[in-house]
Amino acid sequence: MAWPAGESLPIGAPLQPSVVYGAESPDGLDDLYEGRAEGWTYAREGHPNAATLAARINALEGAEGGHVMGSGMAAITAVMLGLCQAGDHVIGSDQLYGKSLKMLRDDLPRLAIGTTLVDATDAAMVEGALRPETKLILLEVVSNPTIRIADIAGVAALARARGVKLVIDNTFTTPRAFQAYTHGADVIVHSVTKLLAGHSDATLGYAVARDPADRAAIAMASATWGLTPSPFDCWLAERGLFSFDLRYDRAEDNAAALADHIADLPGILRVLYPGRADHPESIRARDLLAGRYGNMVSFEVRGGRDAANALVRAMPNVPFAPTLGDIGTTLSHPATSSHRGLSPAGRAAMGITEGFFRVSVGVEDIAVLKEEFAAGIAAAHDVG
Ligand SMILES: *Cc1c(COP(=O)(O)O)cnc(C)c1O
Repeated sequence: MAWPAGESLPIGAPLQPSVVYGAESPDGLDDLYEGRAEGWTYAREGHPNAATLAARINALEGAEGGHVMGSGMAAITAVMLGLCQAGDHVIGSDQLYGKSLKMLRDDLPRLAIGTTLVDATDAAMVEGALRPETKLILLEVVSNPTIRIADIAGVAALARARGVKLVIDNTFTTPRAFQAYTHGADVIVHSVTKLLAGHSDATLGYAVARDPADRAAIAMASATWGLTPSPFDCWLAERGLFSFDLRYDRAEDNAAALADHIADLPGILRVLYPGRADHPESIRARDLLAGRYGNMVSFEVRGGRDAANALVRAMPNVPFAPTLGDIGTTLSHPATSSHRGLSPAGRAAMGITEGFFRVSVGVEDIAVLKEEFAAGIAAAHDVG
């Protein structure tokens, strides 16, 4: 059975949920498997909606041969399982995304892959952790939720000199702010779930490597370990990507304005935004990000849990939800969400107090956002 033929072309991207694809003959199947013909065999190995989405992200990253997977964590899993083996060693930032941290702390060691977590704002700490068997270094440019800026230039130079692959999780910065290959990345990963898809309705990841053998190993790990993305999620993410540049630019403008607004409100202890002169790595941020400081802002109010509760309750129009990169602004409280697994002392060491909040700024009218945050912060001030 075939699609009805016609001269007209769809504007909307087709959604193809088929799990299997018929081939023309055993010779035809040979051609597909040997790469002499383009096409599909079985969706776990690849399907049109994943390929279309991957091609769009490749174009944004200036990369070739990226692979879309079922989540950002699936992409990181495929990189680790595809590129490492027992006896290898992996270094990661001690402020990585929570589940990446857990993977390095608990799970890779179970597979006899050694790991070390270090403060990646200082390349000397990374250098101190290098071993002869170090295979990969996993970094995020801007950390969550403390908005620290990793020493990418220093670590990239080390990685090059020592033949270690630098893996950059570009989720926060996106290719709009940070072209990871030009800063020395060998492998780029994304949680497409966040800013790229942008509507909190698709869970997806992406990974790409400079070395074609690494790309093949990542794709093979995805097919073998079953890290396949859903065609429907890929289809939604592709639609989200059409507006990515517009959303990103607007959210970034809003974030810069909101950070300055919050900093001037009574009861604010600190505001963290890479574009502000009072950011601890403001010079590095300027050099690395060249004015593209992103949509993430963190701030701290005086007072404990009571002040935090009052703040959230006084701003009902900003969803209190532990995600980021949605088209709308969301607010999260790391002490009770992303960092609840740490002890209070562990959180305190990172500066994550009960009064610490992270904002993923969206595309709303900035005047409305300013009012909303002023109300929340005033309510916290009354309590704290
Ligand atoms: C969310 C996130 C991930 C994980 O992505 P999922 O799509 O939720 O699996 C990885 N890295 C960073 C920086 C993230 O924000």
